[in-house]
Amino acid sequence: MSGRASGVGVGLIRKIRSAGRVAEPAGDRGERLPQAAGLAGSVQVRHVDAGSCNGCEIEIGQAFSPVYDIERYGVRLVASPRHADVLTVTGPVTVNMASALRKAYEAMPEPRLVVAIGDCAKDCGVFAGGHGVAGPVSDVVPVDAQVPGCPPEPDAIVAALRGLTGR
Ligand code: SF4
Repeated sequence: MSGRASGVGVGLIRKIRSAGRVAEPAGDRGERLPQAAGLAGSVQVRHVDAGSCNGCEIEIGQAFSPVYDIERYGVRLVASPRHADVLTVTGPVTVNMASALRKAYEAMPEPRLVVAIGDCAKDCGVFAGGHGVAGPVSDVVPVDAQVPGCPPEPDAIVAALRGLTGR
């Protein structure tokens, strides 16, 4: 590492030390689901967009950003349903995604929970009756919790997932 690069690195570390952790203050934790009792402490989350407009994904992204920092409550995203305790699902389930959603759910080890995020996931929202829509998430896989809203705010997503970790 050059002298200049190491100087920048040291300066950055000093800045991080002096600023500390800056995130939104913790709100209320969501209701603890009885089914989540075996998942206390932390949960690994696999996300499936089953037909969303991507608005809900932007808010989920915010929940995992440094601003809301949901990882401080033990919620982590994983790349495979085989590593996940929780499946978050957005969008109305489209005809083309129904089978993929079912397969992702079946690949998860037990105990496993499903959280439907957004009005579309709950009851198809603005896409209800669309020609390519198979139905709400609960028509395809069992749903344990819902986060309503179009899209739901990051606070609501954080609260719901904190209800699963109990933190
Ligand atoms: S609930 Fe709203 S933001 Fe989320 S996928 Fe549906 S239309 Fe988009």
